[in-house]
Amino acid sequence: MKLRYRFRFYPTVEQAQELARVFGSVRYVYNWALRLRSDAYRQGQKISYNESSAALTTLKQREDHAWLNEVSSVPLQQSLRHLQTAYVSFFDKRADYPTFKKKTGKQSADYASSAFKWDADNRHLSLSGIGRLDVHWSRSFKSTPTTVTVTKDTAGRYFVTLVLDETIKPLPKTGESIGIDLGINRLATLSNGERITNPKYTSKYARKLARAQRALARKQKGSARREGTRLRVAKIQAKIADTRQDHLHKATTHLVRRFDVICIEDLNVRGMVKNHNLAKSIGDASLGAFGRMLEYKCEWYGKELVKIDRYFPSSKTCNACGYISESMPLGVREWVCPECGTSHDRDENAAKNILAVGHTERQNARRGSVSPK
Ligand SMILES: [Zn+2]
Repeated sequence: MKLRYRFRFYPTVEQAQELARVFGSVRYVYNWALRLRSDAYRQGQKISYNESSAALTTLKQREDHAWLNEVSSVPLQQSLRHLQTAYVSFFDKRADYPTFKKKTGKQSADYASSAFKWDADNRHLSLSGIGRLDVHWSRSFKSTPTTVTVTKDTAGRYFVTLVLDETIKPLPKTGESIGIDLGINRLATLSNGERITNPKYTSKYARKLARAQRALARKQKGSARREGTRLRVAKIQAKIADTRQDHLHKATTHLVRRFDVICIEDLNVRGMVKNHNLAKSIGDASLGAFGRMLEYKCEWYGKELVKIDRYFPSSKTCNACGYISESMPLGVREWVCPECGTSHDRDENAAKNILAVGHTERQNARRGSVSPK
């Protein structure tokens, strides 16, 4: 199974300088090729990956671009591949038109197997032109990395992401199933009544962040003090993201350990974020990330994720008698079924319905697969 593991590393002063040159060159080549291909596109022509690669070879021979030869050629070539991927997604209507890379954004460079060395016995990772990296190996792995991506985030932290082909042992079966209602106020409510809340400390950092952002707005563009404040903002943002990520990982791993079948609503988060009132809380709750983690963890560990139609009225249906209420505004947290008199916690009732529908869909899928034509 192909996995991506990310580790933090700490470059020396020289390595940081060298990496800055690599990031700069990668960005330059990407933007140069994007300009080249965009110009052609406007004139109704298409430049292929091979053509852009040949043009890069010519560019590097020019005296005024000799500096491009001072860094490893592999990340530059990879950068053209990334642009190619971006174009393919655009032509398949899966993504918007590619955009220029900015100096202020997250920086990255890809090293294919010809441009790095991995010494498994000593856990030494060396990049061509950079040398051995001081990596904090926070988890173990057995296979040899096929690609190494180096990134520097906006908070100034460095990471390597390794693409690995690992075998994962399935988790023991428990015979248990669960339905999950994902929410805005509460991250998740389970059909057995358990709740998973959003991390509490996010609000503390949100206040800190708002203060730092106000300070940033007051600083003069291009000043050294502004850069210091920008870094402070980025560091708080990184802290919030890490806390959230960690929380989501713990919650999803716990679920996958305990349950064999997990049923969730197929939330179209992209569609929901467009609603401005909900955007902030949705971002906070990270529902999309939660769903994705459940999806790949179920696959890793031999568990089953059942995604049910997001138009199914899970909140409005009474799980005891099947009565469907006409409306159920977001503010209603508890309700009593007028048909059978059962009192419901809104989310728990939804989770129970999701579990029931998930079971039915699974059974139908099974019957479908064995029934004669
Ligand atoms: Zn009822």
